[in-house]
Amino acid sequence: MARHRNVRGYNYDEDFEDDDVYGQSVEDDYCISPSTAAQFIYSRRDNSSAVEPGQEYDYGDLKDSSSSLSSHQLSAVDQARLYSCLDYMREILGEAVPDEVLVEAVLQNKFDVQKAMTVVLEPDKMQNLKVKSEGARSTGMIAKDTQSSRSDSEIVPKVAKMTVSGKKQTMGFDVPGLTAEENGHSFHTPHKGPHSEDTSIASSDVLETVSKSVPSAHTVQASEEQSSTPTPVKRSSKPKQQIDVKAELESRQGGKQLLNLVVIGHVDAGKSTLMGHMLYLLGNVNKRTMHKYEQESKKAGKASFAYAWVLDETGEERERGVTMDVGMMKFETKTKIITLMDAPGHKDFIPNMITGAAQADVAVLVVDASRGEFEAGFETGGQTREHGLLVRSLGVTQLAVAVNKMDQVNWQQERFQEITGKLGHFLKQAGFKESDVAFIPTSGLSGENLVTRSQSGELTRWYKGLCLVEQIDSFKPPQRSIDKPFRLCVSDVFKDQGSGFCVTGKIEAGYIQTGDRLLAMPPNETCTAKGITLHDEPVDWAAAGDHVSLTLVGMDIIKINVGCVFCGPRDPIKACTRFRARILIFNIEIPITKGFPVLLHYQTVSEPAVIKRLISILNKTTGEVTKKKPKLLTKGQNALVELQTQRPIAVELYKDFKELGRFMLRYSGSTVAAGVVTEIKE
Ligand code: GDP
Repeated sequence: MARHRNVRGYNYDEDFEDDDVYGQSVEDDYCISPSTAAQFIYSRRDNSSAVEPGQEYDYGDLKDSSSSLSSHQLSAVDQARLYSCLDYMREILGEAVPDEVLVEAVLQNKFDVQKAMTVVLEPDKMQNLKVKSEGARSTGMIAKDTQSSRSDSEIVPKVAKMTVSGKKQTMGFDVPGLTAEENGHSFHTPHKGPHSEDTSIASSDVLETVSKSVPSAHTVQASEEQSSTPTPVKRSSKPKQQIDVKAELESRQGGKQLLNLVVIGHVDAGKSTLMGHMLYLLGNVNKRTMHKYEQESKKAGKASFAYAWVLDETGEERERGVTMDVGMMKFETKTKIITLMDAPGHKDFIPNMITGAAQADVAVLVVDASRGEFEAGFETGGQTREHGLLVRSLGVTQLAVAVNKMDQVNWQQERFQEITGKLGHFLKQAGFKESDVAFIPTSGLSGENLVTRSQSGELTRWYKGLCLVEQIDSFKPPQRSIDKPFRLCVSDVFKDQGSGFCVTGKIEAGYIQTGDRLLAMPPNETCTAKGITLHDEPVDWAAAGDHVSLTLVGMDIIKINVGCVFCGPRDPIKACTRFRARILIFNIEIPITKGFPVLLHYQTVSEPAVIKRLISILNKTTGEVTKKKPKLLTKGQNALVELQTQRPIAVELYKDFKELGRFMLRYSGSTVAAGVVTEIKE
């Protein structure tokens, strides 16, 4: 079992159909329609890696090359360019090529790293370099290695790290010779005046969309010149063998589909017990372990929690009898492999619940059927409502409601109907389609109707539907964005025994192969994926929808936090502190005004933010502006706002990546709004 540690926030997942309604307030019937969200024009600016003039570089780790530099008189800028090139080359070549060779190659090729690489990798050209013979020998060896195999990048490189002091944790400027197209960035070299280039790129992008300010011909031209200045040189190393992910996916796991399932509901509804018992009945927990849990829980005076202990792992959780973290486990049904996430029900752990829910495709909502208990969970402030609303706003469309502890009410049909009536109405208002919600009477404690249909006359008298596992098996797997660029949101970071470190998270889009180069945003640091683990098994590749652990080399663990997004260097995700969004205000008591402080839950991040500007109030269905510059926003309204976060976060536009364009806003312990990103500012 894997468990998230240091959970900071959430991530949302799952897309919904364009005609779909979601995130509605309890009283009102409206939506943020993706089609209306898509009408917002944005200006794409990949300037997060721009280096401000005057920023300092820390070359502390580059001592090795300093000796080989002593013979060259370089300006500070050229030194920086050189280090940047060396950094890049070492990541590919490892340490086998002496520094002098690399330095010589870079200088001879005027900081064009691709040309320098070609020279280093071609032994005949090596003769032209004034290098020692032993350097040449090792280079020849590397040349062979690099051309023949992709595993070259798996050699743990002693990466020269470059840190840039400044507000944004950026890595500095690009390696010259790598075009913006090649690595996906519009990087800048400091000597070229990042500001002028910056403006021109932004302007040309705006031109492509809808421009408020028409850029001068000069700036556009300048942008073209800038981007074409470095000679585009193809990488000399052999491209990795591409896999047909779709075909592989179909044959993987014996053709079973992967589904991420989150269990939600009010505290004490019986979530852990229900799931623990179900896993036991499915054979995922062996008898001996279960016996141990029974003994231990009895000893602790909490015998009724024995099944819950299957998922509640930590001592504190067991002591308090509440789930705090997101427990994860894998189990199989007839047609599916399920990654089960047991989210905490307690109000204090909503951010953890959001993390779990955000990674889910489908949900099981557990409600306590006992008299008074269902009502407690369902009334305002109860987690049944909040969880239901949250998962829907996070993109979950299919729901199984386990009407649990039915043993407590003697399996009464009337009680079941009373609950399904009330809850069904609410869920419809929250945006769930009636056909996508199934109610199942269960008892987590006795195990009734979990894995096999109940034989008990009390239930079969009036219930002929599916049992819980059958219902889970019948969920439709969502469309995965495999064709899109790679995106993985980090939900955990830890050091393993070997080299490098590990991150875990769900692949939201695209796919990854071992040996792939990755870029982490917002830190803007690159590394290599040395290993991929899916369900505790090492694999060569993984794709959108998979919960994986990646072993990374070539990067310092301290650079990575929960909430970072890994992507391919060619198609990076943008990092920003300011963005515009269309939000849907929930059932709030205090109106939202300019400067309203919120906690932004985006992916696995929860970040303090403020609502910087109230731009307009929108018509709920058409998306048309009904009022410009409103003074305040009240419950049920749909509005366009600008948000400013304290630290940079990596976001996507909803129109580009549904999975990565959603967020929730919370204030003082309750969820005040759900939103979609419409424009990234800076
Ligand atoms: P969670 O907070 O939702 O994970 O709830 P737990 O699984 O920790 O259960 C809370 C309490 O409810 C425990 O004492 C369980 O033994 C009890 N419980 C759970 N499911 C049932 C059930 O189906 N019937 C009865 N009678 N008690 C249950």
